[in-house]
Amino acid sequence: MVDLKTALRIFRRRKFPFKFVYSDSYWMVELGNHIFPIKKYLRIYEKLLGAGAKKDNFLSPPLVTDEELQLVHSAKYVKKIRSGKLSQSELLTLEIPYSSEGTEFAFMNVGGTIRTTEAALDEGLAVHIGGGFHHAFADHGEGFCVFNDVAVALEKMRHEGRIDRAMVVDCDVHQGNGTADIFSGKDYAFTFSIHQMDLYPAHKPSGSLDVGLWSGDGDDKYLSALRESFPRLYQEYQPDLVFYLAGADPYEKDQLGALKLSQAGLKERDEIVIGTACRLGLPLVIVLAGGYAWDLEDTVTIHLNTIAVAQRYFRKYY
Ligand SMILES: [Zn+2]
Repeated sequence: MVDLKTALRIFRRRKFPFKFVYSDSYWMVELGNHIFPIKKYLRIYEKLLGAGAKKDNFLSPPLVTDEELQLVHSAKYVKKIRSGKLSQSELLTLEIPYSSEGTEFAFMNVGGTIRTTEAALDEGLAVHIGGGFHHAFADHGEGFCVFNDVAVALEKMRHEGRIDRAMVVDCDVHQGNGTADIFSGKDYAFTFSIHQMDLYPAHKPSGSLDVGLWSGDGDDKYLSALRESFPRLYQEYQPDLVFYLAGADPYEKDQLGALKLSQAGLKERDEIVIGTACRLGLPLVIVLAGGYAWDLEDTVTIHLNTIAVAQRYFRKYY
């Protein structure tokens, strides 16, 4: 038997000194030739094992309960998803085919972000190899997003008294419309989104701070806009917890986004968001969100780069 202090020291000497949440069920959803790269979850898991992550670095996502979902979503909507009774127009808005595996994926991804959040509050930082479904509203799903995992995890932590206030830093190329709408008028959540204006969603409800960029803006404009906000917002708002949606879709070779960030630019973005949070000792939850590069391996590399940045700063500050 080793005491807790020794166990923590041993754990920190490991290649990855924090937890990942992941399930093989994530990539087993059959989406046909859908643009959503469901296999990215498996590729990231394999690459992490290859890079020295141990099996016990990984936690399994529990299925979220209806009670937890209803901290954010309406009972009617949760019931609709459970029963699979979605109309044709609801399915079109969701933009993904309905299947029982797909539904399980949605429930598990919320449970996964909750589990990641608990680990981040216990240990300082944790990464969900999933999550980031920011287009889901309280009463409907949109743009590949059934449930808003980050919103549910945030509300759950607040209801359990583990946090008073949290910040959502959404760097997916698409605006976090669902998250902005869910937390509108709620001062315990600060929603930041930096995104491409000339892109889905057409209607962008205002979050606490929205930074809109345009097609082709590239690394320099993006990074200087981000530097204007961080670490300033962390210092001003003083959240008890930060959720980082590290979308890979601002990438220059993305099929949906056109912000044209290079891989180096995206890494710099991660440094700004993760590095300044770690320096201030803010517990950080990282979720993957989108990423639709022509080459799946590019999306995988961008997500792994985010994890590498987390690894470096975590070692330095925890
Ligand atoms: Zn996106």
